Amino acid sequence: MPVLRVALDLPLHRLFDYLASTALSADVGLRVRVPFGRGERIGVIVEVCENSEWPIEQLKPAGEILRDLPPLPPDFFALCAFASNYYQAPFGEVVLQGLPVGLKRLDPPDRRKARASRPSEAIAKPELTLEQMTALAAIDLAAGFSTHLLHGVTGSGKTEVYLRLIERALDAGQQVLLLVPEINLTPQLEGRVRARFPDTGVVSLHSELAEAARERNWRAAFAGEASIVLGTRLSIFTPMPRLGLIVIDEEHDASFKQQDGMRYSARDVGVFRAHQLGIPILLGSATPSLESWANAQSKRYGLLTLKERANPEATLPTVNLLDTRKMLLKEGVSERLIAAIKERLARGEQSLIFLNRRGYAPVLACMACGWVSRCTRCAANMVLHLADRRLRCHHCGFEHRIPKACPTCGNQDIHPFGRGTQRLESWLQEEFPEARILRVDRDSVKSRKQWEVMLERIHGGEADILVGTQMLAKGHDFPKLTLVGALGADAALFAADWRAPERLFAQLMQVAGRAGRAELKGEVLIQTQYPDHPLYAALVAHDYPGFAETLLKEREQAGFPPYAFQAMLRAEAPDMADSIAFLNAAAALPVIAEHPNVMIYDPIPMKLSRLANLERGQLLSESPSRPALQAFLPRWREAIETLKSPSKLRWHIEVDPLEF
Ligand code: ADP
Ligand code: ZN
Ligand code: ZN
Repeated sequence: MPVLRVALDLPLHRLFDYLASTALSADVGLRVRVPFGRGERIGVIVEVCENSEWPIEQLKPAGEILRDLPPLPPDFFALCAFASNYYQAPFGEVVLQGLPVGLKRLDPPDRRKARASRPSEAIAKPELTLEQMTALAAIDLAAGFSTHLLHGVTGSGKTEVYLRLIERALDAGQQVLLLVPEINLTPQLEGRVRARFPDTGVVSLHSELAEAARERNWRAAFAGEASIVLGTRLSIFTPMPRLGLIVIDEEHDASFKQQDGMRYSARDVGVFRAHQLGIPILLGSATPSLESWANAQSKRYGLLTLKERANPEATLPTVNLLDTRKMLLKEGVSERLIAAIKERLARGEQSLIFLNRRGYAPVLACMACGWVSRCTRCAANMVLHLADRRLRCHHCGFEHRIPKACPTCGNQDIHPFGRGTQRLESWLQEEFPEARILRVDRDSVKSRKQWEVMLERIHGGEADILVGTQMLAKGHDFPKLTLVGALGADAALFAADWRAPERLFAQLMQVAGRAGRAELKGEVLIQTQYPDHPLYAALVAHDYPGFAETLLKEREQAGFPPYAFQAMLRAEAPDMADSIAFLNAAAALPVIAEHPNVMIYDPIPMKLSRLANLERGQLLSESPSRPALQAFLPRWREAIETLKSPSKLRWHIEVDPLEF
């Protein structure tokens, strides 16, 4: 009797064997119902073989093999195997996480066929700029695997380059995967893609789609009916039979990194997938990640540059620093910025004030006894949300009413400290009673629909002042926006996280890029107490390459990525002592001595040391060589799996961690 080796969605690094009365090797890649524990599960057949490592008489018979879908292809399994090995993630989890929920259900709902996307009006293509032409000429779709980094300032026409390249791939009969950080934040892009290719199947794949729609779109991509898949990070695993091109927009964006479950980077998996299929991949950004930039400098990636804005009328905004040490501030805002907003109001133009902190104030405190609004479950403060009169923890979501008096001493005089977007909004409204102010952050915009409505209002000229977080920084075109003010940026300059300056620079560059996208000249005012900081100097000069070079030198000297390769072991338990003891045991495993090229640091508590009542520690492993680290990790993980630990302790390994 044939034996089926089946991948199941379980946190175990193994496959499961079942007996099948009839099964052929052609059934590899099909889904199958199998008994598991007391119930049943849907798995994926990875192999059909003659025997098992287990005694045959102990194997259970498999249930029905599902044939509503053609088998998942070998390149899909190869991609999953790569991700599983590289990220130390169980193969079965990787295989099944990419499938739409409906395909993993025991009682599958009836699904209709994919709806062809409705044809829309095609819009005229602009004449390419010389820089755009040069960039396009450098990529040869027929030449096999290549990675190119498209570094283009905001508004330089990167999207137009993607669209032309996509057009070439479609003409050659290929499918295209276009990855974006958060589709919800960029409905404009989806509209542009659909309008440019009205007769081509364009489907989107992201987590906000309803289950049925997501399955429909996934099936259309898998069947080769949809030629363009526009998706977020998980869509990098979508099987596509004619895939000929991968494009990753805003490649530096941290949301390409999954931070829980299987912790992977969709960008890096994308590069592997392109390599495996022998196709080109294009990474685009105005502020590339230092990893990609270093790869471009060392010529591993081709570098394509767009230095000018594509619209000949639009120029890059002027960036000025406001030295707040010498200024009078009103609610944290300088006279100079207030005057600049006034000018815009008088001219009927828009202003954007960027403050990357939502809520009213980051903390409520009692001056009498020193009480502060701490979260009882986390090592963090509860944020004051005045609009709905709540204190809310931004880490675990715990919330309660604002106390009328200090819970410790009964003092009635408790005060908010610091400021967030809500406080800024209400102060601006007092200062400019005639202005129409829109606040854009995750409290005011919770869904794609709300965001679309908000964008329409902004475009329709219904807002004079926008106040918001980094939500406002992403790829939007606001033609009437001529002023960007940035508050509270300094906090990231001296953060403990050594990646913070890289992120701050990208954020400020992106948000500054919103100003002056059309014929109106833009101005950016950054309030700072450190006007001499090289990060700000680079911003004033619009000098990403110079800034990147400085940071890369620092990283090289410090032996940080991309000059070292890292994996983080994290443990969480109700008691920090248990977490640290577990990490110490992992740091003392004999297998470590067999890998002299890998260095293990001391366990330490994580920066957010307590989250939702769990105390968290971390242990860094590092090597100057990626292959050395990759050889070490599976052996280390297997050894860690044998360690005894308290039943409430959880651990995981994250490869190439972004946060510390
Ligand atoms: P990016 O993606 O680099 O921020 P976009 O592709 O969104 O830039 O282009 C910015 C603006 O310039 C858009 O309004 C776009 O329509 C316009 N644009 C792009 N390419 C050209 C071109 N070759 N000629 C004129 N306008 C262009
Ligand atoms: Zn008190
Ligand atoms: Zn909390």
